[in-house]
Amino acid sequence: MFSCDNARALSRVRRSIALRRGGRSRFRPKCLIGAIEAERLLTGVLNPLEIARVRTTDPYRVIDAITEAMRQDGVVHGFLVALALGEREVLVGRHPIAPTGGRPPGTLAFNDESGIVLCADLGATYSRFAACDLGGAPLSEVSDEIDIAQGPDEVLDWAQKHFADLLTGLGRQESDVRGIGVGVPGPVAFESGQPTSPPIMPGWDGFSIPDWFAAHYDTTVLVDNDVNIMALGEHWIHWRDREHLMFIKVGTGIGCGIVANGAIHRGDNGAAGDIRHIRLAENDSVLCRCGNTGCLEAVSGGRALAQRLSAEGIEAATSRDVVRLVRSGDPVATRLVREAGRNLGQVLAGCVNFFNPGGIVIGGDLAQAPEQLLAGVREVTFRRSLPLATERLRIVPSGLGDRAGVIGAAIMAIEHVLAPDAVDQVIRRGLAA
Ligand SMILES: [Zn+2]
Repeated sequence: MFSCDNARALSRVRRSIALRRGGRSRFRPKCLIGAIEAERLLTGVLNPLEIARVRTTDPYRVIDAITEAMRQDGVVHGFLVALALGEREVLVGRHPIAPTGGRPPGTLAFNDESGIVLCADLGATYSRFAACDLGGAPLSEVSDEIDIAQGPDEVLDWAQKHFADLLTGLGRQESDVRGIGVGVPGPVAFESGQPTSPPIMPGWDGFSIPDWFAAHYDTTVLVDNDVNIMALGEHWIHWRDREHLMFIKVGTGIGCGIVANGAIHRGDNGAAGDIRHIRLAENDSVLCRCGNTGCLEAVSGGRALAQRLSAEGIEAATSRDVVRLVRSGDPVATRLVREAGRNLGQVLAGCVNFFNPGGIVIGGDLAQAPEQLLAGVREVTFRRSLPLATERLRIVPSGLGDRAGVIGAAIMAIEHVLAPDAVDQVIRRGLAA
């Protein structure tokens, strides 16, 4: 039968499965299969067939065999998490009403409250922070302003103070933090968490954000471009039924995050989705900071629109000013935003023919004038794309709004921390200790 070590490992699992009532978040990570039948969970480990399959004195092989059996059954990722996290109560009991009366079957669900994920969506000047549960639901949030050009030490020190305040406010400890997700307004080498030649982030090129946080937290820190995490958050919460999605952020500049086959597509070195410098025909008089002329961002980004309004004697410095003017009914601002939508549509029509997304989500400041911006986007995108590519295409404003970034950062961290391979590593470390 089982060796002493194996029996201890399994009894630890059983102890960690705390059968108690608990609520469930509406935010569901897809890697956690959901509710699990309690009896199946327990006998799945201990029934004679499973015992025969895992009979060995090697604890690693036991875990491998259980892992494989569970995966084949399509259940119980949460079980492996329970195993990995040892004594913590990571599963909670639920008792649905049995239609036939009598004792209802016990079920288990993942306990979202068994850890905290810290998230930061760092913008050029405006940033948002959140402490989320392991289901990706924000428990506490705060936003604040700092110029990202002040450099990594100053900005991350400031971010860490917000993280500490969020934890204190929730009565949680640094040891409760299971992962940190950070979005930054520039390209990132995802594997190392280092911004790569970010144009508006002086001093950040090659700076290791995970290493900086390692002094404060013993956990995984993941960093990505801000539009990528927005795309991830939006896909996770609102677009799970579509495998291919584009998220367009129209703010001061213009960015694009791509979800392909259900995952963020970053390209060979993190440059995928950079539609800012795609050339618009008939705008060659406009010089872009990249040195070319007629680039989408130079013509239709929020900063460009504000500059054009200023040139016409209308006071506007930022993309938020442009939105304010549109909302107040200013005809020039309204015309410019519609035109920006049509220009964006021209670029997106090419993207749609090339990539065939199921949805295009428009976020960022200018999406707060959705009727004006989206009217132009839809008009041109649908007119200039092939019918087959637009048959199921929907173009909509962001459903998460300002929160897309922090929720996406949480999902990024949770997906990593609770991924099967990561859980297996924790299990192995625990058994080796
Ligand atoms: Zn350019």
